[in-house]
Amino acid sequence: EICACLVGSEMCIRDRCGEMIKQQPDKKYSVIIMDIVQFKAVNEFCGRDEGDRLLRFIASCFDWYENNRPDSYACHIRADIFCLCTSYEEVEELEIIVREIRKKITDFPFAYRVQPSFGIGISPERAPAISYLKDCATMAMNSIKGKVYRTYAVFDEKMRSQKMRERQVENDIVSALENGELQLYVQPKVDMRAGRVIGGEALVRWKHPEKGLVPPGEFIPVLEKNGFIINVDEYIWEKVFAYLGKLRKEGRTLIPVSINVSRLHAYDEKLTETLLRLREEYDVLPEYVPLELTESAFLEDEVGMYRRMESLRERGFLVSMDDFGTGYSTMNMLKNQTLDEIKIDREFIRDLEKDKSQIIIRNTIAMLQQLGAHIVIEGVETEEQKEFLLGCNCTDVQGFLFYRPMPVEEFDKPVSYTHLRAHETCADL
Ligand code: C2E
Ligand code: CA
Ligand code: CA
Repeated sequence: EICACLVGSEMCIRDRCGEMIKQQPDKKYSVIIMDIVQFKAVNEFCGRDEGDRLLRFIASCFDWYENNRPDSYACHIRADIFCLCTSYEEVEELEIIVREIRKKITDFPFAYRVQPSFGIGISPERAPAISYLKDCATMAMNSIKGKVYRTYAVFDEKMRSQKMRERQVENDIVSALENGELQLYVQPKVDMRAGRVIGGEALVRWKHPEKGLVPPGEFIPVLEKNGFIINVDEYIWEKVFAYLGKLRKEGRTLIPVSINVSRLHAYDEKLTETLLRLREEYDVLPEYVPLELTESAFLEDEVGMYRRMESLRERGFLVSMDDFGTGYSTMNMLKNQTLDEIKIDREFIRDLEKDKSQIIIRNTIAMLQQLGAHIVIEGVETEEQKEFLLGCNCTDVQGFLFYRPMPVEEFDKPVSYTHLRAHETCADL
């Protein structure tokens, strides 16, 4: 342990702090945890010796509080993770400590931009266990992972309940797949001018035996984190191919049903293989299953993504860019990648009463049309939005004004919904 000389080990902090809390149980205590974002890169970029020099410096920053603040112990947990246990009166004191340590570290002369991330663990309970405070600190720190603009977070009970909910999802999803709790819903896409359905989008619904309907927003982000989304995607895709294969066998007219390709999946080398296998197995032409990729998927590994998209397009699949306009700069991609369809996010048309919104939408639509992309607008809910979009020469939309997502069986019976408005079909979704 390179820093053992400077700060205590985890074991001895547990004993020393445990003792301290026992002796003065009426004080408030906190554990602050710090981790360096991408420390591996520091070692790779600067070499191990430099990495160690940095760690020794960080250890000295923590050590300073042990020597200069009452009731404080610092320790090096492992690798680039450090912690400080201290008594406090106001949370602001802890925030000041964090900002001071951060400033010292970022001012340290070093070839690589070092970015520390902190979690502040606190507890309303009297004489909390040190391990409990440490868990709280870790949870707080994890809650800001990937958020570059955040350097620290203070623990909040909501973090624990969020974590519990995530655990529950991870726990239940396997049996959900096995027991058929995940169901295929389809939301029709319509041509507003011609007044007909031109396709659909496959959307997953989870009918949980105890919790009822769990909205995708509650479980998809969790599954994206742990990778299980790949299984869910494939499960839903298979249902879509099976449905279209059935229509073909029955000699009925097919309309395209788009599938969502999660971000994680888009990086998966096996993506093409899976889609080709489904295509063969159900004997469905690929143009009936357009692939919706979220805009942000194009951000990382841009080149690899273009290559995979091109190889899928060569095999007849259509690529649709989902959530267009949700904050990432995609102009470059519009230049470099041929897209068959662009779906404009519903946020885009939310505040149409503003003149500026109208200008942006009208011109974005015109630009995309000139680039030759087929445009679909999402989230059309009102007559005003409909009229405005028709005025922009934009006819293809998806939104509650026309249809809500419906079970695939219902989507399968066009007559039953052609003349119905959304809220008359399946209001609870
Ligand atoms: P998305 O791909 O942008 O899907 C469109 C979402 O907008 C759907 O929400 C749909 O119900 C909703 N929507 C459509 N029209 C309107 C409208 O007029 N007003 C409002 N307020 N909402 C409208 P949903 O089904 O809750 O799905 C949320 C997100 O979850 C989807 O956003 C998609 O990113 C993800 N998702 C859903 N199913 C799947 C799936 O099978 N696989 C993957 N990877 N992601 C999925
Ligand atoms: Ca989508
Ligand atoms: Ca979308």
